[in-house]
Amino acid sequence: MEVQQLLSKYMLEISKVTDEKSLYVAVAEIMRKVVDYKVLNVIVHSSLFYAEPADQIINEEWFIDYLPWVEERLSPTFLPVDNWYVGLIPIFKGIKLLSIIVLTTSEEPTAEVIDYLQLLSYLSGLTLENLRLIGFVDNAREYSETVLNLSSDGIIVFYKGEIEFQNAKSSEIIKNYPDMLREIKTKIDSNEEFFEIELPNAFFSMSVKKIQLQGEERILVTVRNITSEKEVQKLREVDKIKTNFIANISHELRTPLTAIKAYTETIVNVPMTQDEIKEFSETIYNQSLKLEGILNDLLDFSQLESHTLKIVKEPTNIHDVINDSILTVNHLASQYDVKIEFNFDQDLEINCDRKRIEQVITNLLTNSIKFSDKSKEERVAKIAIENDGDFVKIIVEDNGIGIPADKIDKIFDKFYRVDSDLTYSIPGTGLGLAIVKEIVEMHNGSISVESEEGKWTRVTVQLPNE
Ligand code: ADP
Repeated sequence: MEVQQLLSKYMLEISKVTDEKSLYVAVAEIMRKVVDYKVLNVIVHSSLFYAEPADQIINEEWFIDYLPWVEERLSPTFLPVDNWYVGLIPIFKGIKLLSIIVLTTSEEPTAEVIDYLQLLSYLSGLTLENLRLIGFVDNAREYSETVLNLSSDGIIVFYKGEIEFQNAKSSEIIKNYPDMLREIKTKIDSNEEFFEIELPNAFFSMSVKKIQLQGEERILVTVRNITSEKEVQKLREVDKIKTNFIANISHELRTPLTAIKAYTETIVNVPMTQDEIKEFSETIYNQSLKLEGILNDLLDFSQLESHTLKIVKEPTNIHDVINDSILTVNHLASQYDVKIEFNFDQDLEINCDRKRIEQVITNLLTNSIKFSDKSKEERVAKIAIENDGDFVKIIVEDNGIGIPADKIDKIFDKFYRVDSDLTYSIPGTGLGLAIVKEIVEMHNGSISVESEEGKWTRVTVQLPNE
């Protein structure tokens, strides 16, 4: 056989090879064209790996002593045994022995045959090394895919805006929450590195990292489902709010109650003039108004919770309503030394629940007074009206202690009170704004708040001008 023929035969057979076993089947087939062997064995790591014919094993004793020698020389060697030969053909890459083919033949190999075998062993070595490398890469890929798929975090790699890789968890998350992908892309575009996404009944935290892979930029996104953490956090917050509320409400009730008790006891036990009795009774009356206010808040709150809070609309002069609210809070304003400013003399009539809107304005003014800043020389609460045709805006603004930026979203929550040294001694239940918001929304209006801590607060109520 010519070298060229041998090579084309080799290429043909080798193209069918998919694994180590099929390589030896192919090599055995090609070897037959070079040597008429009886039995062919392949030894890998000192064990029999393949035999042709199947199950025929060449006696180790005939060649075992020569193996180190073949390994060192890395070239085909034939040993005479009686009137036939044992051939040892090393398969190697560089100086590394990969396997040894052992065969028996009755023909004495010529130098040309040895050359062919040398060529075959060299080519097979290359193929074998490649197969092992491919196997290694496949195993490594399978290993890392298994690890990535076992991760309880979703992992996504974006390349040029499209998903290039995602692990099992990420596929599961995206399947269950199809909106997630859009949200992630928006966040990537806005260059945010860490963010949380709230979807119906689920919370996710994400981290985005730019990475270089194969010389090009990719975006690695890690997605973690933090719904249960958030739920625990919420439960803790609710628990804290409940405890605070009970402490607050007890305190709120006790203060007027103690005053009423003390003043009544004094009237009963201490001889007093008519004027003194009148003065004490006024205080008792004012304190009972406070108690009534708290009870009304609680009642409103329970109606709000049971969705039984009702409004009855009637044409209402908003100017009069504001004046009535100012009258209600006047006493408190002088206690806190807060000046109330209201400059609006037009008559403006809107269709609303008069009592409820008065309650809203009274509440906002009360807050502006309660949360006024003692350290400021002039304490002001301003109320203004803006009418833009479709809507009427009632704006209550003060130069009080303000609200920290990270608390502003929460102040309409039930029971929420900003917890700080400044607010510690200021009375309240944390229900006022929750009730106010509900009333405003029942009028199809909206309420918003802006503030700068330590400087000012502005609450805007917008009601439809109907
Ligand atoms: P309460 O007044 O009973 O505490 P609210 O629901 O009316 O409850 O208000 C919730 C919280 O919002 C208050 O405890 C306070 O911390 C904050 N807040 C409301 N209005 C103002 C304001 N004008 N200035 C500063 N903080 C305010």
